[in-house]
Amino acid sequence: MKTRTTTYASRVSQKIKTDSKFFKSYMTDFKNEILQNQKLSQVDWNDLKKNHTTFLLNVTKNCNSNCKICYAKDRNNDEMTLKDVKFVMSRLGKGKKIVITGGEPTTRQDLSKIIKQVKDSGNHAYLYTNGLRLSDREYVQDLKKSGIEFIILSFDGFKPDTYKKLRSNQDHLTTKLHALKNLKQEAMKTQLSYTVVQGINEKELGKTVDFAVKNNDFIKSITFTCATPIGRFDVEIDDFLTPKDIIEILSEKGIRKEYFTETKKFYDNMGKILSRMGRKKIDRKLSPEAVYEIKEGKMEEIIKLEDLTQFNKDFENKKFLGILGFTWKYKRLGFELIKSRLDLVRFEKRMARKNVLNIFPTMIVTPIKSKRRVDTIEIMKKKDDFLQCATPI
Ligand code: SF4
Repeated sequence: MKTRTTTYASRVSQKIKTDSKFFKSYMTDFKNEILQNQKLSQVDWNDLKKNHTTFLLNVTKNCNSNCKICYAKDRNNDEMTLKDVKFVMSRLGKGKKIVITGGEPTTRQDLSKIIKQVKDSGNHAYLYTNGLRLSDREYVQDLKKSGIEFIILSFDGFKPDTYKKLRSNQDHLTTKLHALKNLKQEAMKTQLSYTVVQGINEKELGKTVDFAVKNNDFIKSITFTCATPIGRFDVEIDDFLTPKDIIEILSEKGIRKEYFTETKKFYDNMGKILSRMGRKKIDRKLSPEAVYEIKEGKMEEIIKLEDLTQFNKDFENKKFLGILGFTWKYKRLGFELIKSRLDLVRFEKRMARKNVLNIFPTMIVTPIKSKRRVDTIEIMKKKDDFLQCATPI
């Protein structure tokens, strides 16, 4: 198993090298920096508070599943206590996106208290879950009452067999479909987190996009994460995929390939404009992204690819008049976007009102090319230490 995984890992590295031009096109902005295994007293909380908007709060390593694609290396009872959560929340400032994750956070009996602490600190509570407990409608209602604003649910397609191959031997699909039904009924905003494994579920990406479009009243985004051989990964496969492959597959649905990278560039350029204006830093995107408005069941590019490309060209050629022209031409949208980037959460709320669907193809690259700074920080209790690592979501 070890040899097979090692071989697989070296093939991943090789493919990354082959696709490096593409990867470079959306990753060059990240500086080499990673924070690891710092004691609580060593953590530069001011830096985190100032420079980051999204935090993963890893509240447990326990789980009610035993997935074969799990990133977690080990399981133990080492959990953040409520006191730890309170301490961390008191240092991260307000208005941040706090993603409560694990392991599986719903295994915590005191989850509602954790959520309350996040909310009481003036931050936004997101929940990253496998959704198994969410097949209970009352449980979903309780989560809503506790203050969870957004659910990120792992969902790997529509074939029961996929879950047997990737997750555990149980039929997770039926349970997850129940969870989705409950989330819809409770109008809880949801992101599907789809792990893509070559030869197993890459043929259902289009179907999943259609499902999200149809259910856009509550499904607001999809992350397609290419599986990587880290943690307890133990699936027999011949090859692996990268975000470039995902974009290729999605292009069969008419999603234009360049739209992903131009949108990513657009966000980064917009971030640079705001930072030149001396405004607050924004999340840089680790992944390419495509943003659609759903109108009468159809996907429409929220800003046309041609306009995005022109904007990015103008920006790169430092034609600021072009930027003003763009903003004027799309004054409602341009103004709204600029304003919105000043406050990520307000932006997301506004986007949600507009029936927007975001699609992110991504990949956990940290183990392959470590020492990379991203704008999402994971905080996890590990004995007396807090581990922070780069984790795109
Ligand atoms: S991948 Fe998630 S649901 Fe599966 S075992 Fe790991 S923590 Fe649990």
